[in-house]
Amino acid sequence: MKVAVIGTGYVGLVAGTGFADFGNQVTCVDIDRARIATLEGGGVPIYEPGLGDLIQRNRSRGRLRFTGDVGSAVAGAEVVFIAVGTPQEDDGRANLDYVLAAAREIGAALTGWAVVATKSTVPVGTADRVRAALAEAARVDFAVASNPEFLKEGDAVNDFMKPARVILGVDDDRARQVLEDLYAPFVRSRNRIQVVDIRSAELIKYAANAMLATRISFMNELALLAEKVGADIEKVRAGIGSDPRIGTHFLYPGPGFGGSCFPKDLQALLATAGDAGAELWVVDAVVRANQRQKQILASRVIEQLGDGQARLDGRRVAVWGLSFKPETDDIRESPAIVTVRALAAAGAEVVAYDPAASANAQAELADLAGVRCESGAYEAADGADALVLVTEWHEFRRPDFAKLRERMRGAALFDGRNVWSASEARRAGFRYYSIGRPALSSA
Ligand code: NAD
Repeated sequence: MKVAVIGTGYVGLVAGTGFADFGNQVTCVDIDRARIATLEGGGVPIYEPGLGDLIQRNRSRGRLRFTGDVGSAVAGAEVVFIAVGTPQEDDGRANLDYVLAAAREIGAALTGWAVVATKSTVPVGTADRVRAALAEAARVDFAVASNPEFLKEGDAVNDFMKPARVILGVDDDRARQVLEDLYAPFVRSRNRIQVVDIRSAELIKYAANAMLATRISFMNELALLAEKVGADIEKVRAGIGSDPRIGTHFLYPGPGFGGSCFPKDLQALLATAGDAGAELWVVDAVVRANQRQKQILASRVIEQLGDGQARLDGRRVAVWGLSFKPETDDIRESPAIVTVRALAAAGAEVVAYDPAASANAQAELADLAGVRCESGAYEAADGADALVLVTEWHEFRRPDFAKLRERMRGAALFDGRNVWSASEARRAGFRYYSIGRPALSSA
């Protein structure tokens, strides 16, 4: 099948490559010329495990190509995916400018019937606007569909190739058939395709993200309570997670959720609800709880190392992990960036390290003179008064505490992910702080 994918970010690039891998003829388009030049030159503009090899394989077999020209990509395509960004507006709404601009360009480029499916996360009702934008320029018939994407950055290739479910929002039989055919090889072992109406498909994506975010904020709130009443949130987590009605996923307390999806999608959902005259109290609380949680690590450092005036002047703080989660270079809404900014604002010198996100973080934090990145974890900790673990990359999970203690000036460890052993850290001479565990926990 001939497929065009508009937008080569985390979603478009993974999806386009995945479709090519199953034998389709895929052209990925982006307006970012530098990105296309990188891809055409054999590079990968994002860090996503396994993606580089897959791109390389499909390019060399002639099934995958990259271009800046929508016309050549869309001409003759049977399916066109819109996978451009939908960033947050100041009022919380999803900005649909990129989606609608892409739809207009696609409309002008269609040479025959095609289904135009939106993969970008878009508010309920967007398909109607996409249809209208396409119709402005199209000279041929087309169908619209909603095909929200559920891949997780860091494990995106695996998620895309083996999806837990494929949601197809359609109102046209031919479009349904074409999309089902396209996805059939992805769900061969068990049919996980769910065909629904377009509005439900659009809402499913927001509902999924809101539910996952709710679990995180719920646990973060309980962690605050556990600390106050002398309980251990890790034991509470295991205790409730073993109930099959609750399950174990997304129950990990930490420094708040970030990323390019949850924060903006929750705001967009609240905006949709506001427009529809529905009040989403739970979602509103999830957002507020998360805003508070994102300050927790910096507040703890200031509490323990501050001068009594909430200042950290003369203190050096090492930060491990800058991406919003491990295995990605994406720093959008990362709690680590919030933590670094808050520490720097309190006067600390911040020395950070991340295995993949340092370049993105350095660009984002360029306005802060007292912040720099080091090329290794222990180098970042050299001479530091405190070390804060924000993003739990594998290489941070079992540090050599004795070596750390030698290299650091101070002895305070802030474990934002509850991954270190308190007793090991204490044996090495550290003061150890975590999230939701009693101060003297032996865990
Ligand atoms: P991204 O910002 O990484 O990439 C978007 C790309 O689209 C950019 O390269 C941009 O240059 C390009 N673009 C914008 N307008 C264009 C146009 N008219 N023609 C061609 N290219 C254009 O975004 P992303 O993270 O891939 O997310 C894309 C959408 O998917 C968003 O709506 C997001 O909410 C959703 N989503 C993201 C994830 C994720 O994990 N990142 C997961 C599921 C859904």
